[in-house]
Amino acid sequence: MTLQGNILSTSIEYLKGVGPVRADLLNKDLGIFTFNDLLNFFPYKYIDRTHFHKINQINEHTGNIQLRGIIGRIQENGTGRKKRLSAVFKDDTGSIELVWFKGVNFIKKQLHPNQEFIIYGKPTAFKGRYNIAHPEIDIASNKALNNTNILHPVYHSTEKLKARGIDSKTISKLTQTLFEIIKPADIKETLSDEILSQLKLEKRAKAYLDIHFPRSGKAQVEALKRLKFDEFFFLQLNILTKKNKRKKKMPGAVFNKLGNYFNDFYENHLPFELTNAQKRVITEIRQDVRSGIQMNRLVQGDVGSGKTMTALMCILMALDNGFQACLMAPTEILANQHFMDISEQLFALGIKVELLTGSVKGKKREAILERLKIGDIHILIGTHALIEDTVVFKNLALAVIDEQHRFGVAQRAKMYKKNTIAPHILVMTATPIPRTLALTMYGDLDTSVIDELPPGRKPIQTAHRYDNARSRVFGFILEEIKKGFQAYIVYPLIEDSEKMDYKDLMDGFNAVERFFKPHGVHTSIVHGKMKPANKDYEMARFVKGETQIMVATTVIEVGVNVPNATIMVIESTERFGLSQLHQLRGRVGRGGDQSYCILMSKDKLSDEARTRIEAMVSTTDGFKLSEIDLELRGPGDLMGTQQSGLSNLQLADLRADSAILTLARNAVIELIKTDPSLTHPNNQIIANHFNSLKKYQFDWGRIS
Ligand code: ADP
Ligand code: MG
Repeated sequence: MTLQGNILSTSIEYLKGVGPVRADLLNKDLGIFTFNDLLNFFPYKYIDRTHFHKINQINEHTGNIQLRGIIGRIQENGTGRKKRLSAVFKDDTGSIELVWFKGVNFIKKQLHPNQEFIIYGKPTAFKGRYNIAHPEIDIASNKALNNTNILHPVYHSTEKLKARGIDSKTISKLTQTLFEIIKPADIKETLSDEILSQLKLEKRAKAYLDIHFPRSGKAQVEALKRLKFDEFFFLQLNILTKKNKRKKKMPGAVFNKLGNYFNDFYENHLPFELTNAQKRVITEIRQDVRSGIQMNRLVQGDVGSGKTMTALMCILMALDNGFQACLMAPTEILANQHFMDISEQLFALGIKVELLTGSVKGKKREAILERLKIGDIHILIGTHALIEDTVVFKNLALAVIDEQHRFGVAQRAKMYKKNTIAPHILVMTATPIPRTLALTMYGDLDTSVIDELPPGRKPIQTAHRYDNARSRVFGFILEEIKKGFQAYIVYPLIEDSEKMDYKDLMDGFNAVERFFKPHGVHTSIVHGKMKPANKDYEMARFVKGETQIMVATTVIEVGVNVPNATIMVIESTERFGLSQLHQLRGRVGRGGDQSYCILMSKDKLSDEARTRIEAMVSTTDGFKLSEIDLELRGPGDLMGTQQSGLSNLQLADLRADSAILTLARNAVIELIKTDPSLTHPNNQIIANHFNSLKKYQFDWGRIS
């Protein structure tokens, strides 16, 4: 962030103690170019200097501790990358070993036998003795340390920087120098007095001082809260002002009436009674599409909650008002299935439905594109082929995007361009998103939740089995097949190890055939390397019940709907992510029959894999699983940091700070309710900072 005319925009080179050589290192390794960058380079932890441990108090529960003692024998082993430095450290109660594997030369110079040191780190047990790897070390007579009663900041540094003498302590010293030359007023306030006093937040300048040099634990906590609040506040301000503006400005097609299509279908062709949740969501959507303003709505509903039918009812509203609609799915299989289901359901109504995917080519494609342009197709169903520029509608007014998590935001934006008045957008996701993430990722969308499953569904029974139980599992599958049911057996396919994975898949397929064929059971196989036509053929055989087992890779992960399939066996479960497992499990339990999900794994599992499997066994609630997933993987990994704008959150953490997020979001909502364009003099401070962020720091472009 550049702050013109402010001392903070000064190049870091000119800070006392830096100079051109160190400036270059700070630029390259830590991205610190200006005083302001240094100010925003926060400690990642603090050492509590107020308390000392004794070596004989250490046990297996001991966390990070501070010890005071003398360095004894120093030893260096190995060479090159295997180099290892160790030192004996003694206090009056015992001794412990300190070890370093990195930066050995640098550390060695700092260690002096028989001198008193203060060290900080976490002991771990090794061969019955405790040691501390890579402790922080300080000479006990160091003046800065004698100023006890403080939390000592620790900054990230790199090995290269450490070797050049820029370690955490140097960074702290530079920061101290910076605070000596700037005035509190140089750290501009970003929030109005009103918000500060109402929410009891401290001034920004104080927060910066306290985060680098906390005078107490409480001061550090308050500082962190203030700065996290800032991050959430301006992220939400961006999302919500955009949403606000769009709501004011973006006109939308008006679906005034419920006409023949909707009514005829509802009264005569709907195969079941809608659930209350489905009805409620349809009503919410109906309000949007009558308002004259473009709709951007997210429908969240767990797998099997009936999102497709909900969307179809809305598509009929569009048709009733003379418009076209489209439905975009992430895979050909799913697009195909939607096409088959919907054409069948609408058959009696004379509605023209077509399918467009990558494998629709030549004359057939041309004909579809031509008919689409003149309005001879009512509903176009397809994959991302739909958003290509060559696909031109006569008057598209509603675009349904199924399984949004598979699409980027950019693809959503492309849909806007498909008509002069941007079509209404209905985004559907079966991967429930933790609330904090939803507010950040999809905070600009209105949200509806289908929180009810169609009646009569029996909860899926989930079990974990080790590989050596496979023949028993096969036996169980056979019994169910004899009762007339069908089964999926899914193998992982991870790009890096594709060759191996295909071998596993084919070996698995052969084993299945060996076991089941003698019993007259037929097996289909579907994987990504097959031609689309062959995939469709195999899929169709399974749907028709000609085959009883479907061996597949995750191409069947989303959306596939075969209610007669009641068993989902997942092979190498440890290699799947939680949301993927939940999606896969959602392929069964779609009719009224008892369904089963069997998670196969090898017997040696990592802690994380075990947690995932245990989570799957213990709950079928997609929202609960999504929270666990967020815990395990973190928000960036879950949603793609780039796409989400999450990279703008430096201190705030969507896992731990949901309370602060709520506080910030509510403050923003309150603010733009009374002063949407931030023109009130009291809010000038906020507007100024917001504008400078938009110009310099934030990569807002990707959040739409
Ligand atoms: P998802 O929300 O996972 O996309 P689908 O739309 O594929 O779920 O619906 C799952 C199954 O439930 C389908 O077979 C569908 O026909 C059926 N279904 C949808 N709504 C109802 C309902 N109200 N009552 C009974 N079955 C329903
Ligand atoms: Mg679906």
